[in-house]
Amino acid sequence: MRDRQRIDPTQFLRDWSSPLAKFNSALIEHYTGYAGGRFLPSAGKSTFKVIDPASQEILAELPSFGGSETSAAVESAVPVLEDPAPLETRARWLTEIARAHVDNRDELGRIVTLENGKPLAEAKGEIDYAAAFYRDAAQRLDVLRPRKLKERPKGLDWTVYSRPAGVAGLITPWNFPVAMLAKKLSGAIAAGAPAVVKPAEKTPLSCIALFHLLHRLGLPPGMVNLVFGDAPAIGRVLCEHPAVRVLSFTGSTAVGKLLSAQAAPHLKRMSLELGGNAPFIVFDDADLDLAADQLMTSKFRATGQTCVCANRVFVQDSIAAAFTDRVVERVRALQVGHGLEEGVTVGPLIDLAAFQKVSSLVDDALGAGAQALTGGRTPPPAPDKGCFFPPTVLTGVRKGMRILGEEAFGPTVPIARFTEESEIVRIANDTEYGLAAYVFTRDPARAERVISRLRFGHVGLNSGTGPTPEAPFGGMKHSGLGREGGEEGLLEYVELQTVPHP
Ligand code: NAP
Repeated sequence: MRDRQRIDPTQFLRDWSSPLAKFNSALIEHYTGYAGGRFLPSAGKSTFKVIDPASQEILAELPSFGGSETSAAVESAVPVLEDPAPLETRARWLTEIARAHVDNRDELGRIVTLENGKPLAEAKGEIDYAAAFYRDAAQRLDVLRPRKLKERPKGLDWTVYSRPAGVAGLITPWNFPVAMLAKKLSGAIAAGAPAVVKPAEKTPLSCIALFHLLHRLGLPPGMVNLVFGDAPAIGRVLCEHPAVRVLSFTGSTAVGKLLSAQAAPHLKRMSLELGGNAPFIVFDDADLDLAADQLMTSKFRATGQTCVCANRVFVQDSIAAAFTDRVVERVRALQVGHGLEEGVTVGPLIDLAAFQKVSSLVDDALGAGAQALTGGRTPPPAPDKGCFFPPTVLTGVRKGMRILGEEAFGPTVPIARFTEESEIVRIANDTEYGLAAYVFTRDPARAERVISRLRFGHVGLNSGTGPTPEAPFGGMKHSGLGREGGEEGLLEYVELQTVPHP
């Protein structure tokens, strides 16, 4: 392996200075927020810019909203709770929202690529994935029907009702701007809970486009609301306003903890989808081609900027060289570039801070004795260039290197070796996170032993697949609270009410 020819990482720093046409979308008429069934006035507001991370071009300049608009949005949602829509109506809305995604896949996908950077095929896949959450929720509404107990405790009949919990505050990250919203909004609408949505300031455009589609569907005013801009001010209102009873957040563990602390005196229900540090474990009896293919799927989606992607790769000693060869071959075949360009499979990192984080982890590992088999140290991009980081495979990675302990959120594959099964379970669990893990072995008994001891909410067995609408997904430990998807994802937005009666 050591004799392999190194490729020049700077070859990926392509010139993306050719100007894109100024951003324009047939879906967007009003570049602003939405509350009470209307697009918000934006005159006189301070603004912020949305940037194409691949070209650094300004896509749009949007009004920045804060606490007062968020309070007004929450208040416009309150009347919806006085007369929740019947389940059949919610099912129709969910089905229509799913259809609106699919019908507008190409344009929504284009917007996601422009503001997030991911390749267009991936962005369109994200739209289909998002649609599936609404479609799936529409088919699960029976779980919310009143339920009569079979027993007659205290000599009475008992009925259990699922009531909308209250207004739902939904805060989403930039890495899946459409899908992360779908995971939350599908549950809230299914439960009959009106929502105030706050997308990330780096990727609000796809959400604005989506709200134009929602506007046309004729949901009751106040059912869905959109604010963006001053995140701390918006977050504070969503934590403190008495009408907000559920706060669902996807993002970093640090912000999740801050919101938890802010909301604690107000006793909100919190649903927190936070950071990860996924171990990808390959035992000596694994199908190595399958493991390498699945690693690629897990690792490079969204340029490695996903909470579930393999962050640490642990390979048993005897197959380490053979597995590493397979990975390097596949990584070298990746095409880095602007996501709208044909054939591109890996886009830029979201911004310079992300580039610096990935760079510093790679530098730290190389400085401590790791070797880059492809990719590696990369000079920072010029201010007018996208933040492209070359897909990087590191070997000789050892305990103590930061790249094993921190979420890289980038296109890095740090490969470490292990010897014993008992040792690797301990190492994999040695993190504050507990979101996703992956295990590759042909031995069912070993799989059962290892998986039952891993403290992660999602464990792929011979598969690098992530969440799906049909199954509850969420983290253990500091990766979060609550679940999205499946029946459990709907139940996050209801309060149960028991009615004993003669
Ligand atoms: P982030 O910085 O925590 O931001 C997430 C959202 O929180 C954004 O909308 C952001 O708004 C908002 N926010 C920031 N500070 C806030 C505050 N004080 N009050 C209220 N809202 C605030 O996270 P990110 O960098 O966008 O996302 C990456 C992280 O998300 C990673 O750690 C990743 O693992 C995690 N993630 C987890 C899952 C999961 O399912 N568990 C899925 C995807 C991502 P602005 O953008 O306007 O600042």
